[in-house]
Parts: sequence; C-alpha cells; structure tokens
Amino acid sequence: MAAKAVGYDVIIGLEVHVELKTRTKLFCGCENRFGAPPNSLTCPVCLGLPGVLPVLNQEAVAKAARAGLALGCTVREISKFDRKQYFYPDLPKGYQISQYDQPLCEHGQLAIYDGRGNYVKTVRIRRIHLEEDAGKLNHLGQRLSDAAGSLVDLNRAGVPLIEIVSEPDLSSGEEARWYLNALRTVLSYLDISDLRMEEGSMRCDANVSLRPHGWAGSLGDLPRVEIKNLNSLRNVERAIDYEVERQATRLAQGLKIELETRGFDDVSGRTYSQRSKEEAHDYRYFPEPDLPPLRLEAAQIAAWAKALPPLPDRVREELKAAGLEAKDAEILVQDPSAVAYFRAAWEAYGKAVPVANWMLSDLARLLNAAKRGYGDAPVPPAELAALLTQIDRGVLSGRMAKEVLEAMFERGESAEAAIRRLGVSQISDEGRIRQEVEAVIGEHAKVVEDFRAGKEKALAFLVGQVMKRTRGQANPEVVNRLLRELLSEPVRPSGS
Ligand code: ADP
Ligand code: MG
Ligand code: ZN
Repeated sequence: MAAKAVGYDVIIGLEVHVELKTRTKLFCGCENRFGAPPNSLTCPVCLGLPGVLPVLNQEAVAKAARAGLALGCTVREISKFDRKQYFYPDLPKGYQISQYDQPLCEHGQLAIYDGRGNYVKTVRIRRIHLEEDAGKLNHLGQRLSDAAGSLVDLNRAGVPLIEIVSEPDLSSGEEARWYLNALRTVLSYLDISDLRMEEGSMRCDANVSLRPHGWAGSLGDLPRVEIKNLNSLRNVERAIDYEVERQATRLAQGLKIELETRGFDDVSGRTYSQRSKEEAHDYRYFPEPDLPPLRLEAAQIAAWAKALPPLPDRVREELKAAGLEAKDAEILVQDPSAVAYFRAAWEAYGKAVPVANWMLSDLARLLNAAKRGYGDAPVPPAELAALLTQIDRGVLSGRMAKEVLEAMFERGESAEAAIRRLGVSQISDEGRIRQEVEAVIGEHAKVVEDFRAGKEKALAFLVGQVMKRTRGQANPEVVNRLLRELLSEPVRPSGS
C-alpha cells in the first residue's frame, strides 16, 4: 500500500546518477572498467596529483548529449564545468568537477507507465549534467561503525557520470519506481551505460516533502528530506513510502520536518538521519579554471538527434498499432533486445500478435530457465517465424509446435529439422483423413445414429476415435469438417 498523508500532497523529485560506458575516464586516459585490481586504473590526473591538467573525453560528451536528446532536453551549445568542493577520502582532489549553472542539457520530459502499460503522467526533467565519479571506500568489517579501517580504491575516480534531475512532479513511491523504470528503459536503447543499480552504475537520491493543501508558497520553501544512494527500484519505493509515513506522523503530532539528508536501511526498511541542515555542505562552487567552456556546434547536436534510434514511446505506439495489448507491448518495450527480436520475427512471419504471444509465453519460459535473453536466444527470429508458418499450414497443431520449439531451443535446430527428427508433423492430407473417418463411421454405427438423431456430443467421440487412429496427428479441423460432411450424406441401404 502506498503511504498516504491526510491533508497533504506528497512531493517527490529524483536525482539519478548514471555511469557512462566509455573506453576511458572523463578527464584522463585511464581505462573505464569495473572489477580491475584496486588502484590499477589510475594516473596522476585521476589521483589528483598537482601539476596535471584534465582533458575532456569527447565520447562521454556525445553519450551525455544523446541521453539528453532522448529525454527531450535542449542541449546547450555552450555549457561549462565547475568545481564542487568537499572533503572525503574517496575524492583525492578535494573537489569534484561537475556542472553547476550551465549544465549540458535542460528542460526535458519523460512519460511514465504503470506495470500494465497504462500511461500515468509526464515528468519534467530539469537538467542533465556531466560530472566525474569519486573513488570507492572498502570498509574492513561488516559496517562502517565497527570497521577496523577503510581502504580506498580510485579505479572509479574520474569515471564519467550523468546526473539527471527531475522536477518535483512525482507523488508516490510507486510513481518514483515507474519513473526510474522508464528512465532506465530509454537509456537502455542508447547503449550508453550498464544501468545496473545493484552494481552502482545507476544510483538514485530521492527528495521527499509534504505540502499542506492550500499551500501558496514555492516548493523550494518546503522543508524536504533527501534520501541518498538508493540501490534498487524496490528500495526507492520502500524508502519513499517509509519517509512519507514518517513525515505525516510527525506533522500529525505537531512536530516540524527537519531539512536533512537521510540514509535508507535495507533491513529495517527505515530511513535514518545522516546530516542535518546545520551540518549541510556548502560546496562553494566556482568555475573550473583548468577547462575551457564546452562548445558544441548546432549541426553536431542536430546530427546526434537525427541518429537516435526509435525510442520507447514510439515503439510502444507501433506495437499497439500492430494489435498488441498494452501490457504485452510494455513487456517488450522494456527490453530493446526483445523489440529487435520481435521486429525480425514479425517481418519474417507477417503477423504481429502470434509472434508476441509465443515470445511472451513459451519462448520467455525457455529463456528464463536457461538464463538467456532474446539477444542470444538459441531459436533465432526467422526460425520462430518458420515454426508459426507450419502451424498456419496445418503441419503442426499448437501443442505439437510447443514440443518442436523446445527441441529447437535445446538443440539449436531449425524448425524443419526438429519437425523431421521428432516425426510430429500433423496429417492434413484430406484423402488420408477421409479413409480414417470412413473407418470410424463404419465401426460406430450406434454413435453415428445418435448424432444423426441430433445428439451433437456424439461428434466429439467420433473425432476422438479418428485422433486415436492417427496417434493424435490428424488435423482436428479437417477431421471435424469431414465427419460433418460424411455424416450429413443420406444413409446408404446396407448391402448395396
Ligand atoms: P539542490 O540545489 O539543493 O540540489 P534543487 O532545487 O536543485 O535542490 O532540487 C534537487 C531535487 O529536489 C530536484 O530533483 C527537485 O525536483 C527536488 N525538489 C525540489 N523541491 C522539492 C520539494 N519541495 N519536495 C521534494 N522534492 C523537491
Ligand atoms: Mg542535489
Ligand atoms: Zn587517470
């Protein structure tokens, strides 16, 4: 249940950090890679040694700009870098190079959808800026409070990040989860980040406040709490729901909400105070003197915009126009490799709905069990199309096709090879089926009589007998049709 606060509107804005997948770091030539031995991917620039200068990575600029364009932002032709100063052992320079008053991208928007694929609302994106990541502290012990010490790994120091700042347009933990999901989906189409919240390549801070009904002041004047470093979609929702309840309870008791930064404890499901307003950081931002303003040609920005792939909103509409139900379209849309698979199979087969049905039921089940994705499915799209074509031709029943698909999946066989090897093809040859139907009619005179006397149910028995004689391989439609045809013929006198 979403947390409620009687007499108040829930106001939420998210700040999302996304690590960019680039060959090198943002301001030096060190490799940008996860999992290398501690401090092996470092140099005087990202170690913050004196006397060195940062050089901006153009690959990171392009990826950040494409993210902005995909989220409907304006990309500024001139943006600039600023120093954000604070002291922490994972920040060797004593400042982070970020963007303050002139971020790379501004004024975007993102439509969000619920789990069934229904449109919920459009959230405004205030800005996206480019900045460097800090290093990582590894605490020796279970938790910071009783750690014997901490070791610093600077492999991550200087890795390019984008920070995507929303307007406070969200109003529940659930909406925040939908927003993050939609954001991750859009970015996944651009292939600019791993987007793994558990590994920290996507991290979220949530700002939460309660606005009294009838409040006339600005949102900026509401006391708000920032919950830092939420590391899964579920925890974003849990932390916000808890925080809304906590604030509502305080307000109901006549207590004030303190402006503060809070953490989230995964185990207890509670937020806890980390830093109050009095201890708040004053970052003393000032322009980065070692980097010139970042200038981009309008033609370059236009070229990036033009080269964007079809994005989720468009793909979603396309899938619905092809006849897919909203919830099925939504499942496909959230996975670009599923969309690519679907398109290829649809093109080869010609009909969209059966492709989606097979992908989301039998194929999805096989992929899940094998821990694979559509991108490396052992049954390529053209072979799924070939299988579906055999159903249409009457070669396979739906039940047989499931069996064939499993065989194709396990052995990497083509539909044709699997059908041949399993010997499962359906008998649709009318002459052959007619022989069996005639034999059944001859053997079951009593049932035939019942049917002719108007007992419709008798037909099912006769169909069953034909299926039995053909070991289930006769095409049931043809069997039904021929039985009806032959049974409606006038009774021939016996002996003639
Ligand atoms: P700061 O400069 O302290 O980071 P900003 O005004 O830039 O604060 O806002 C940071 C985030 O807080 C944004 O995502 C914004 O949408 C959100 N935010 C602003 N006002 C509120 C509020 N009253 N309640 C919840 N979130 C808010
Ligand atoms: Mg902030
Ligand atoms: Zn370096």
